[in-house]
Amino acid sequence: MKALRRFTVRAHLPERLVALERLSINLRWSWDKPTQDLFATIDPDLWKQVGCDPVVLLGQVSPKRLDELATDESFVSRLDDIVHQLDDYLSRPLWYQERAAAGDELPNGIAYFSMEFGVAEVLPNYSGGLGILAGDHLKSASDLGLPLIAVGLYYRSGYFRQSLTADGWQKENYPALDPQGLPLRLLTNHTGDPVLIDLAMPDCGQLRARVWVAQVGRIPLLLLDSDIPENEHDLRSVTDRLYGGDQEHRIKQELLAGIGGVRAIRAFTEIEGLPTPEVFHMNEGHAGFLGVERIRELIGSGLDFDTALAVVRSSTVFTTHTPVAAGIDRFPVEMVKRYFGGGDENASGVCGPLLPGVPLDRVIAFGAEDDPSKFNMAHMGLRLAQRANGVSRLHGRVSRALFNALWPGFDPDEVPIGSITNGVHAPTWAAPQWLQVARELYGGELPTGPAVWEPEAWQRLQHVDPGQIWWIRSQLRELLVKDVRARLRRSWQERGAAEAELGWIATAFDPNVLTVGFARRVPTYKRLTLMLRDPERLERLLLDDKHPIQLIVAGKSHPADDGGKALIQQVVRFADRPEVRHRIAFLPDYDMSMARQLYWGCDVWLNNPLRPLEACGTSGMKSALNGGLNLSIRDGWWDEWYDGENGWEIPTADGVSDEGRRDDLEAAALYDLLEQSVAPKFYDRDEHGIPVRWVEMVRHTLEVLGPKVLASRMVRDYTEKYYAPAAQSLRRTVEPLEEGGAAFGAARDLALYRQRAQEAWPKIQITDVDSTGLPDTPLLGSEMTLTAKVQLAGLRPDEVTVQAVLGRVDAADALVAPVAVTMTHVGSADGGLEVFSTTTPLPVAGPVGYTVRVLPHHPLLASEAELGLVTLA
Ligand SMILES: *Cc1c(COP(=O)(O)O)cnc(C)c1O
Repeated sequence: MKALRRFTVRAHLPERLVALERLSINLRWSWDKPTQDLFATIDPDLWKQVGCDPVVLLGQVSPKRLDELATDESFVSRLDDIVHQLDDYLSRPLWYQERAAAGDELPNGIAYFSMEFGVAEVLPNYSGGLGILAGDHLKSASDLGLPLIAVGLYYRSGYFRQSLTADGWQKENYPALDPQGLPLRLLTNHTGDPVLIDLAMPDCGQLRARVWVAQVGRIPLLLLDSDIPENEHDLRSVTDRLYGGDQEHRIKQELLAGIGGVRAIRAFTEIEGLPTPEVFHMNEGHAGFLGVERIRELIGSGLDFDTALAVVRSSTVFTTHTPVAAGIDRFPVEMVKRYFGGGDENASGVCGPLLPGVPLDRVIAFGAEDDPSKFNMAHMGLRLAQRANGVSRLHGRVSRALFNALWPGFDPDEVPIGSITNGVHAPTWAAPQWLQVARELYGGELPTGPAVWEPEAWQRLQHVDPGQIWWIRSQLRELLVKDVRARLRRSWQERGAAEAELGWIATAFDPNVLTVGFARRVPTYKRLTLMLRDPERLERLLLDDKHPIQLIVAGKSHPADDGGKALIQQVVRFADRPEVRHRIAFLPDYDMSMARQLYWGCDVWLNNPLRPLEACGTSGMKSALNGGLNLSIRDGWWDEWYDGENGWEIPTADGVSDEGRRDDLEAAALYDLLEQSVAPKFYDRDEHGIPVRWVEMVRHTLEVLGPKVLASRMVRDYTEKYYAPAAQSLRRTVEPLEEGGAAFGAARDLALYRQRAQEAWPKIQITDVDSTGLPDTPLLGSEMTLTAKVQLAGLRPDEVTVQAVLGRVDAADALVAPVAVTMTHVGSADGGLEVFSTTTPLPVAGPVGYTVRVLPHHPLLASEAELGLVTLA
C-alpha cells in the first residue's frame, strides 16, 4: 500500500504527533472506538464541540496543548499503538485473502458505483437508507479485505440540513462544505497536477470534474466534483446538491457518476498501480451509464458493439433498491438522445459525440420501457448486467414480478433477479457496551477479522446475565433521554421560543419509560402519520398511568415534497401540545449521529410501511443489534426474519384496496399491540425490577438477528454469489474461442449466438408432443415418456434446451409449482425436425399437466431465462 499523499497541512503537528493526521483522514476512526477515544483525549471539550470530527479538531486545538501532548509519554505511546493497529488493519490478510488462498476464484478488483455514500457524519454525502447502506458496504468490504474501489459524486452541499419553523413546517438549509476541511485528498497525476475528468456535452461544451479521494479503511472512495474554474459557470453546479434540481440537472449528475466514474477509476488505478477492476457493481440504476462507457472503451480497442456488450454484461452486477415508481429514474428519451447524439455544429465545426463509436439507437434501447417517450434507468441496469438482485427475499420476489416484462414468456419466479438481504455495519451501529461485553465473553485473543468474530459475538451475547442486559439497555435509554432533551431545547430555540418557556424540557422524557422510535425519510409509503390515525387513542397510550409510552419521531421530507412536509407538520403540531410534549417529540435533522443515539436507546423500533414497498429497511436491523425489539409490518427484511419471539408483527391489510380503511385497520392493530403486548411486557418486573420476559426477547434478538443483519454477512454473500461468478464469467468471455485464437473470441461467439437466437426464435416451433406409457390413473412416481418434435429454424440441437414442464393442475388449469426436466436430443425427423425425449416419474399425485418448451442454451449464459426467449408447445 502506498503512503497517502498529504493534502493540506491543517495544523502544524509536533514531530512526535504527525501520525495523528493519518489517523484523522482514514475514516476508519469512525468505527474504531480506541481511535475516537484518543482524539477525545486531545481536548475533550473541543472534541464534543466540533461534533467528534478529528480533522476539525486538529485544525482548532491550541499549539500549546499539542506541545504538551508531544511530551506526554503515555499519550505518545497510545498514539504509536493505534497507528500500529491501523497499519496492521490495512495490511494483514483478511477473509478475502484467506478465501483466495484456499483456491476460490475471486475478482482482482471490484468497482462499486453509488450516487450517495453515508460513511460518517463528517462527510454528509447521503440522504437516507441507500447511502448509508453503501457506506456500510464499503466498511464491511474493508473489514473483509475486498479489493473494492468506490465511486460517486462530491456534493458541495450534501443533502440539506433540516429545521422547523414556529408552526412546524420543514425548512431546508444547504451549508456549503469546504473539501479542504474534510478527510479528503485530491487525486493528482504523476506530475502533481490534479486529475481532471472530461465529458463532452451536447452544445460542444465540456463537463469537467476533479476527483477527491476519501479513504474508508482499506477502501478508496472517489468523489467527482464539478465545482472548478475549468467549467463554464452552469456546469460548475452539476454536483451542487444531492437530489436537488430538475431532470436536466439529474441526468448530468448521472452521466458524470457513470461515465465520469469509469474514467476516474481508470485514472486512479493507473496512478496507484492497481489492477483494473474486473467486476462493476451498480448500486441502483443511477450509475447505469457506466456500462455504456465500458462498451465505448471496448469498441475503442477493436470490438464490435455486441461483443463489447457481452463482455460488459458478464462482469456487471446490478442491485435494484425499490419497487416504488418514484424511486426509479426515468428520463425523456429526447433528453438522452440529445446527450448521446452529439454532432451539434458550432463555429469551429461539428463537435464529437459523448461516446464515439457507440450507436445512439443501441443506447436508447437499453432504457426502453412501456412508455416509448421514457428512458428507464432500472431497465438499463438490468440490460447491462448479467446478474441482478433485490435487497431482501420479499423484494427479490416483488422485483421479479415488477420487471417481468423484460423476460416475456417466463413466469415471475423464473425472472433472473435474485436477492441478497441488506445488512448493517456492526462497529458503526452497535453501542460500544455490547461490543465490549461480547469481547469479554470471548476471553482471550479475538480471531482474525469480522467474518469469524462478528457473527459469534452476537451469538455469545445469549450467555449474558439478564441483569446485565437490562442494565445496559437502561444505560442506553438514559443517554438517549439526555440527547433528546438537548435536541428539543435547540429545536425550540430555533423555532423562536424564549428560554423562560423551556423549563419543562429539563424533565421531558423519562429514562424509565418504554421508549419507541420512528425515524426515516418521509415518502408516502413509509406512513409517518399512521400513529396519528386515532390521536386520542395515541394520547391515552402515551399518558397511561401504569404503562406509559414515550415516542421519538424524526425524518426529512424531500425538499420538493410538500405532502411529506405536511405530514411532518401534523406530527409536530400533535407533539407541541403541553399535554403530551414530555412524551412525544419530533426531532429535526435526522442524520447519522442522531440515528445512532436512537438505535442505541430505543426499546422498540416502529416501522409501518405499505407492504411490500419497503424493499428492505435497515434501521430496524441497527436497532436489533442493540437489543431493540422491532414492531413492524412484515415487509422487507422483517418478513424474512421475524420469528415470533424477536419482536412483533403488525398484521398487514395489504389485500384491502381502500387505503383509508387499510390505514384504519393497521393503525388499530398497532395500538392494540402496544397496549396489550408491548407495554405490559415491558412493565412486568421481577423482585429486582427486571422485566424478565422482555429481557428474554432482547437476548433472543441479539442472538438470532445479530449474526444475520450484519453487513459483513451481506458483503460475503455478494462476493460468493455475485462478484466471484461475475469475475469467472468475465474471464471466460475474454478468452479466445480456441487455442491461439483472438482474445474475446468467446464473447464474440456469445454475441453471435445471441443474434442468431434472436433471429431464429420467432420461427422455432414445437410441432408434436407425444406422451406414452401414462397410466389411466397416474400415481405418484409412475413414469411417463414424453417426446417432442421441434423446428429449430437453423439452430443446432445443442444450442437449445428443450424441457418438459410438469406439475399439478389447479382449478384454473394452470400448473402449480411446476418442475422442469431437460429432454435429450434423440434424433431427427422428416421436415427438418429434431426429436427430443425424456422419461420421468410424475412429480405429484392428482391431476397432472405438462407442457414442453424450448430455451436458448449457451455455456456463457448465466441462466436459461437470460435472453428472455422461450417457445411453448
Ligand atoms: C439506517 C438509516 C436509514 C435507513 O433506514 P430505513 O429503515 O431503511 O428507512 C436512514 N437514515 C439514516 C441516518 C440511517 O442511519
